[in-house]
Amino acid sequence: MSNKKLASCPTCRGPVADRSSNPTFPFCCARCRTIDLGEWLTESFRIPGEPGESDRDGPSSGELGRGGDDLPS
Ligand SMILES: [Zn+2]
Repeated sequence: MSNKKLASCPTCRGPVADRSSNPTFPFCCARCRTIDLGEWLTESFRIPGEPGESDRDGPSSGELGRGGDDLPS
């Protein structure tokens, strides 16, 4: 009985091949590695803020009343 330490894929929790024969270590396959990296990027892009403040500080309707467009011909 060999009590070898079996690594488990962080993505699918499946068995991971030995590091020497697995270029995608510690993932079981390249796909799982991509998925994990993707989730990482997604999470880093999602900055926990405080949504709900829809009150803008600046008046946006001021840009509509642009004067000086009436050119005498
Ligand atoms: Zn996997």
